Amino acid sequence: MARIYPLFSSSKGNASFVGSPRGGVLIDAGVSCKRLMQALGDCGIPETAVQGIFITHDHSDHVKGLRMVTKRLGVPVYAQARTLRRLVDGELLAPGCRAVEMTGRVTAGDMELTAFDTPHDTEQSCGYRITTADGRHCAVCTDLGHVTPTVQEALLGCDLVLLEANYDPRMLANGPYPAYVKQRIASEHGHLSNPDSGALAAELIAAGTTRLILGHLSQENNTPALAERTVTEALHSFRRNGDYLLEVAPVETTGKMVVF
Ligand SMILES: [Zn+2]
Ligand SMILES: [Zn+2]
Repeated sequence: MARIYPLFSSSKGNASFVGSPRGGVLIDAGVSCKRLMQALGDCGIPETAVQGIFITHDHSDHVKGLRMVTKRLGVPVYAQARTLRRLVDGELLAPGCRAVEMTGRVTAGDMELTAFDTPHDTEQSCGYRITTADGRHCAVCTDLGHVTPTVQEALLGCDLVLLEANYDPRMLANGPYPAYVKQRIASEHGHLSNPDSGALAAELIAAGTTRLILGHLSQENNTPALAERTVTEALHSFRRNGDYLLEVAPVETTGKMVVF
């Protein structure tokens, strides 16, 4: 069975490990190398288990530690073409690091990954759908302003989805951010709100998804309890712990993982 370890998840830094202590991949490296290595260690994952690093986009909460992590691990970095260009231009990859453009299906260790476009306020951004050796599917999907048909198609049929639940619309509206930042977050190319996450979650569960992890929660405009409540309310016609399991990804790992 494959597992996902949501190592870091918030607007301050993101990284997940998908696989097992024998081998797997990192999705994003948005915290310092030191903290990321510490988190892997806390989860019992040896550094040698990391077989590739897949980057969703070039915002610093996803690539902050990338240069040092690539220097330390010496594994290839995968990203979409324009994202890769920005990583190279921004010197976010260690010298000699193998940079691989995501096109179609990519094999890393005993897993296959495909990127799917997400609508977000940067040059290019994507989520990843991952198929394990035993035919299980999971996806990591954060940093999107709204749910497009492409996103929906990529997530349908996944056993597990790590899905953004970034903000509560009322907390955002009444919160401390300047108006232009509020607009950016709530825009079609910003982040996914709790109600939007709940609506998509209901479609996914109806289509057979059994495990949901809510992630990339804003620390200013959301709380874990509120995200969980909004999404479970949207899932009222399904049985929690029967039809589906729901977790909220911690800001920093507690060592927990979810098997799928
Ligand atoms: Zn972003
Ligand atoms: Zn982000």
